[in-house]
Amino acid sequence: MKGRPSVARMMDIFEEMARRGHEQVIFNYDRTSGLKAIIAIHDTTLGPALGGCRMLPYATEEAALTDVLRLSEGMTYKAAAAGLDYGGGKTVVLGDPATDKSEALFRALGRFIDTLNGRYRTGEDVGTSENDFVHSLRETRFLVGLPQAYGGSGDTGDNTALGVMQAIRAGLMHRFGTTSLKGRRVVVQGLGKVGYHVARRSVEEGADVIAADINPHVVGRVASELGLEPMDPWAVVETSCDVFSPCALGNVINAETVNKLECQIVAGSANNQLEDDSLADTLREKNILYAPDFIANAGGLIQVANEIQGYNPERVKHQIESIYDLLLAIFEEAERTHQSTMTVAMKHVRQRLVLVHDIRRIRTS
Ligand code: NAD
Repeated sequence: MKGRPSVARMMDIFEEMARRGHEQVIFNYDRTSGLKAIIAIHDTTLGPALGGCRMLPYATEEAALTDVLRLSEGMTYKAAAAGLDYGGGKTVVLGDPATDKSEALFRALGRFIDTLNGRYRTGEDVGTSENDFVHSLRETRFLVGLPQAYGGSGDTGDNTALGVMQAIRAGLMHRFGTTSLKGRRVVVQGLGKVGYHVARRSVEEGADVIAADINPHVVGRVASELGLEPMDPWAVVETSCDVFSPCALGNVINAETVNKLECQIVAGSANNQLEDDSLADTLREKNILYAPDFIANAGGLIQVANEIQGYNPERVKHQIESIYDLLLAIFEEAERTHQSTMTVAMKHVRQRLVLVHDIRRIRTS
């Protein structure tokens, strides 16, 4: 009987891969460093997979697997929507970033990444930083978002925030006919690498910003630096505002919270903000304008994709700014066709994947 349950689980994994459209899932274990990591490659129609590496003390291995499958799928859509020629991939490291990081762990991860020979590249995400990958760099060159001193383009937080600001502006334009944030109430959930810059940029543009983070040290520091009023992190969802910007973790909009939202627009950086895609329809019914997360938060991906091609800050800025036009077009189409913004965004993504796939049937030699 010993082997049987694991066979059953393997079948479940393949079913889940088939359902979501994944190509490859790789379990990596190193006995020296204790590394336990899962790499998921979702779809490489557009190009080699690209996606960050998250480190979290997952409650179960299944939770880690679910996370990496969802996140890597989102990366495919993010790259496709942003017009990039990369596929979707993601890594999760099972462990506590506060206590389990070491040179050996990230070197071991680097060696596993190297076995994919460029089919997948990774870099920082929640729980990891650009400096962690300086260790990995000694074992593989297939990394992005490294510190500038190591030839990378550095932290992606501010460029991701720049994209979120474009999403907020597109939302304001569609809803109120102006891109100005002056006097608008913006609630930012999560004040980390992205949320801090969303809060800062919103303050600079004259918004009335309310900010929350579960880490009291972070809230205290950001609130005093930006002159903000901190808020109970569990109350943000139901706070009345023009813009709710989720910049913490996923699933913030679920069957319970969706009925508590008191905002006009949702535009933030968190991946998988909706626990379930059907919640996009509920948001539409509640007349809340939702900027699909994989479009609003593409700034960081645009930055690191440009790193691979030869970094040019002007080109990066231009590409990130185009998030505004893309979202405005999606908002308008969604309104015209009585569909959710998510449905319209996914239609465009699928069209691009099919288009590029079909063009590549042409032999070049
Ligand atoms: P981060 O780890 O630097 O910051 C997240 C912050 O959220 C932390 O300060 C944490 O304490 C706080 N937090 C967690 N749960 C919370 C809650 N329930 N309420 C309030 N605060 C909470 O991460 P980050 O890089 O800023 O990324 C934030 C989100 O944006 C993540 O979902 C990430 O996947 C996504 N994202 C980030 C980038 C990027 O360039 N860093 C790019 C695309 C998407």
